[in-house]
Amino acid sequence: MPTDPFSSRDAAVVVAPGHEEGIPLRDQADDKIGALRAVHEPRLFVISGPSGVGKDAVIDRLRPRFPEAYFAVTATTRPRRPGEIDGTHYFFLTEDEFLARRAQDEFLESAVVYGLHYGTPRGPIRQALAHRQDVIVKVDVQGAASIRSLVPEATTIFLAPESMTELLHRLQSRKTDTGDALLRRFATAATELDAAMGFDYVIFNEADRLEQTLDQIAAVVTAERCRVRQHPLIV
Ligand code: 5GP
Repeated sequence: MPTDPFSSRDAAVVVAPGHEEGIPLRDQADDKIGALRAVHEPRLFVISGPSGVGKDAVIDRLRPRFPEAYFAVTATTRPRRPGEIDGTHYFFLTEDEFLARRAQDEFLESAVVYGLHYGTPRGPIRQALAHRQDVIVKVDVQGAASIRSLVPEATTIFLAPESMTELLHRLQSRKTDTGDALLRRFATAATELDAAMGFDYVIFNEADRLEQTLDQIAAVVTAERCRVRQHPLIV
């Protein structure tokens, strides 16, 4: 009875029909599969959108979905709010500390948001990418535009509110701003909507539909992870 040339899963050399001299098919093909894995370079995802759209809640709920990703901690000169932890929610810096770090080119981007400094530390992002971790960073709309121009391969996601009424409701209910500050954020949000068309994806964060928002972001992340990209990101 003829032996089945493919019967041994361990055979390093397979004598395939037409290749009776013996070809190390398995090893060759494994090399190709290895090369295919290498075309998946780690990705940088930028999540942005107007103040009050729910970026923080979205990021918090994304963490358990992508435990292997690095969620960038950004720096700010804004005073700490109750419950916020230095190094977890932000790196809280004095203005002098912030400006010194900025002068050392430690930020991938920095912006003044509502009169306070915010910046994305470059070092930890570089390190995460070098460890082949995907990076997820939350910034305002100006920050997203800066990152897009510095790192064109980054994937940018704009979170949009379902309506301005809903956005106002959220800004009022989180009670971090009142009076003029709240109105300022609301007015800025209206202009920030103009930037949405420059993003790769627009995802609506509709009221009481957080799971839907998370599913859509996860779909983008998964699709982007499967894309063929042969060049590492430079940040
Ligand atoms: P909040 O003070 O409410 O935490 O944040 C104000 C705004 O600054 C939000 O839109 C937030 O996403 C944005 N933000 C946080 N970190 C950074 C950063 O490093 N760079 C920029 N450009 N914006 C940031």
